[in-house]
Amino acid sequence: MTDLESSNNLVQRYQAVHSEVDTLAKQHQQAVTLLAVSKKHSAQAIAEIHQQGQHCFAENYVQEGVDKVSALEHLDIEWHFIGPIQSNKTRPVAEHFDWVHTVDRDKIAQRLNDQRPDERSPLNVLIQVNISAQESKSGIAIDDIAALAKHIAAQPKLTLRGLMCIPAPLDEAQLKTEFNAMHDAFNQLKAQYETVDTLSMGMSGDCALAIECGSTMVRIGTAIFGQRN
Ligand SMILES: *Cc1c(COP(=O)(O)O)cnc(C)c1O
Repeated sequence: MTDLESSNNLVQRYQAVHSEVDTLAKQHQQAVTLLAVSKKHSAQAIAEIHQQGQHCFAENYVQEGVDKVSALEHLDIEWHFIGPIQSNKTRPVAEHFDWVHTVDRDKIAQRLNDQRPDERSPLNVLIQVNISAQESKSGIAIDDIAALAKHIAAQPKLTLRGLMCIPAPLDEAQLKTEFNAMHDAFNQLKAQYETVDTLSMGMSGDCALAIECGSTMVRIGTAIFGQRN
């Protein structure tokens, strides 16, 4: 494939995803933000999608993410961190990103707050919920949301925006049950905190169902950028 062909494909895939998300959002009378998940894809590919009007991008790995944020500093991009965070890696995340989707303990929230530079607006935070109760996965149980939310909301340099989940591979009926449980938890949190407005739920394979179940932000990688290496 020539560069021009691959670039045309990228733009076409992006436009198709964008219009599908738009259609679903209208159908369910809901505002849905499309987050382009650019992990393992180049700064060049990000710049091309940005040129099509895409504003929000997400990265999973701290160093790779920081490199791209720096390389694309001249563009007006909102950067989301969606990977697991270890406590010794909170500083670069607090310094370079606008949002973090994967906060699942007090200690991480505390460090992100303490390390957020004063000149930047507060870091937008989502609590990751381990909705499928997978042993190996990060995230907290639904029952533990209230305590962590209270801790985050008390931090001056964090803004609690909502919840995020990565469900286990499930059949559609089970997935729907879990998405609905997330939506209920989100509504409860929203009733308590006026800053809460975001439910980050749905990826390339399940974004239509997630929107049907009340997602306000979908994280799409493969359907836009193609397969990762
Ligand atoms: C990689 C990733 C995505 C995007 O997944 P695709 O299936 O490529 O759309 C979404 N969310 C998280 C947390 C991811 O790590």
